[in-house]
Amino acid sequence: MIRPLIAGNWKMNGLLASLDIMREMESGLSSLQDKADCLICPPATLLASMAAEKSTSRLKLGGQDCHSESSGAHTGDTAAEMVADAGGSYVIVGHSERRADHGESSEIVATKMKAAFRAGITPIICIGETLDEREGGKTLDVVSDQLAVSIPDEASGTDFVVAYEPVWAIGTGKVATVEQVAEIHDAIRAALENRFGAQGAGTPILYGGSMKPENAAGLLALSNVNGGLIGGASLKAADFLAIYAACVSQL
Ligand code: PEP
Repeated sequence: MIRPLIAGNWKMNGLLASLDIMREMESGLSSLQDKADCLICPPATLLASMAAEKSTSRLKLGGQDCHSESSGAHTGDTAAEMVADAGGSYVIVGHSERRADHGESSEIVATKMKAAFRAGITPIICIGETLDEREGGKTLDVVSDQLAVSIPDEASGTDFVVAYEPVWAIGTGKVATVEQVAEIHDAIRAALENRFGAQGAGTPILYGGSMKPENAAGLLALSNVNGGLIGGASLKAADFLAIYAACVSQL
């Protein structure tokens, strides 16, 4: 069985005062069963402070992006090695906001995944279609292409996480239906098994896109949904913990 992962993406939100949210999460986790991994990806500015302040190994930390190189003249970027050095054990790569705002292609995302492997941290690779692509009947083609190109040959199937995040559902309050999620997650699982054999059966596949305490249980009950990547609701400890609780209560 795949150990689920409930991951929070704080995006460009959070100041030092937000360490209180982390403390609240840590305290809430202590009364919930340790049956799923729990991760917060804060802005890069907070990673080291949160790692220093963290009091439980149950809460893991990660970055929201990394550069392909380990160091050099890349103003404003963060190397995967820096994420690891600051206390991160995961890094999100290929988030749709990075793909849209910074023109990151799947080819570039593959170089970032390689950087994460080099630094010894686990990449969470995001894929997902836009509304136009869904309405044009292209969802499966887009997702399979992103999956094929964004994952480098170095990957084994069990050393990364996939997050399916329909772009039209991110931060919009629109959630994909359980049927839509099941269809795409099943297709992602088939593609992973096709490429990585038995190991592809063990890759965690997260759903992301307006996951909240109210809709989490239904989504997390699907056989190929192994957790969630949560944006807005991860900024409130109570909501994030409620999603974690919905996850572990099903196991
Ligand atoms: C995300 O950006 O990864 C995300 C899922 O955001 P939200 O939960 O706010 O839709």
